[in-house]
Amino acid sequence: MFLSAPYPLSLTSPPPPFLPSFSPSIRRSFPPIPSSTITKPLCPGSSRLPSIRALDAAQPFDYESRLRYQHLKSTSLKIAIIGFGNFGRFLAKAFSRQNHTLFVHSRSDYSRVAPQFNAQFCSDIDDLCELHPDVVLISTSILSTESMLKSIPFQRLKRSTLFVDVLSVKEFPMNLFLKYLPEEFDILCTHPMFGPESGKNSWVGLPFVYDKVRIGDDEERLSRVERFLDIFAKEGCRMVEMSCIEHDKYAAGSQFVTHTMGRVLERFGVESSPINTKGYETLLNLVKNTKEDSFDLYYGLFMYNQNSLEQLERLDMAFESIKKDLFGRLLQVYRKQLFLNAKEEDRFLSTMKLLRGGDDVLEPSDEKSKRLEGS
Ligand code: NAP
Repeated sequence: MFLSAPYPLSLTSPPPPFLPSFSPSIRRSFPPIPSSTITKPLCPGSSRLPSIRALDAAQPFDYESRLRYQHLKSTSLKIAIIGFGNFGRFLAKAFSRQNHTLFVHSRSDYSRVAPQFNAQFCSDIDDLCELHPDVVLISTSILSTESMLKSIPFQRLKRSTLFVDVLSVKEFPMNLFLKYLPEEFDILCTHPMFGPESGKNSWVGLPFVYDKVRIGDDEERLSRVERFLDIFAKEGCRMVEMSCIEHDKYAAGSQFVTHTMGRVLERFGVESSPINTKGYETLLNLVKNTKEDSFDLYYGLFMYNQNSLEQLERLDMAFESIKKDLFGRLLQVYRKQLFLNAKEEDRFLSTMKLLRGGDDVLEPSDEKSKRLEGS
């Protein structure tokens, strides 16, 4: 590192001419030299003083890996994921990549799938709790969250456990956590605002919204929540701290509307063509991004965000208003055409009257009704 010498370098003998000579005060400012880097005299009884081979002499062969292991151990968390569906598995990939210990529980049997994520599957929720995870992460459908939460044997968990949710609505799980979780548990409500499709290549720059709803103020709890948040920060997410209520207001206007348009277009049946415009490609991508999500998820966005109904009504009104604009213009064109035809008809009738020797001039409509009567 600092000095790398492939030759014996004595502390007392003057440095070789090609090395700078340090004043004693500078020498004293060096950190103590680990004894492992000082070589023993070559022969017993030799008067040669111990000499340094190199200041960055090799440490025991597994020294770095041991340091790395200790560092990982100090930052790694035991995370229990409840709900190992589409999104739970998507998150597990990143947790496992960052060397966290994973336990998984879900309604369906994922015992064969879990090892692919370096996770241990527990079909029994009691077994999962007895593994004493640091973090319990809820990734079940919005609709099933309450019943699932009620089924957790909290008494089997550590007294200080951090509960995290990743539901796409926020006020609802926050209220459930506050209602059902023991007071000693910490609560972090989060929403990674991306999914297996939009975040499949990278999470860089993608928003991660979180609200530290209830975090105990001792150092260990504060550090635990930061280590959890750090998982997303390390992946490059844009970390956004925001209250659950504020999140739901923004999300209804953006996420719910996006999902609705995606579903409307899917039902409408958009298909790729050889002359796709950029705009149309955007629509196709929108459908692709939203159609992979379950209807439960979409329904949850509607049912459990009190702002969604208003947004749906606004969308409906906007659609009606666009239709009115279009039909309004169409009517004008139609009227104009009718008016022009009437004018032409007037001109035709006047000519006819002149040709007939100037008979009484009849109103076109009267003439028309006469013709109709005659037919
Ligand atoms: P989802 O349809 O919202 O949820 C599927 C998960 O819920 C599965 O783990 C499923 O368990 C579980 N589940 C469903 N009904 C259940 C019931 N009656 N009892 C117990 N468990 C039940 O799809 P998802 O995409 O995986 O989303 C999971 C959560 O992540 C949701 O809360 C969603 O809002 C949130 N989220 C999703 C995305 C996304 O892009 N997909 C993004 C951000 C946040 P089994 O698999 O065992 O059947």
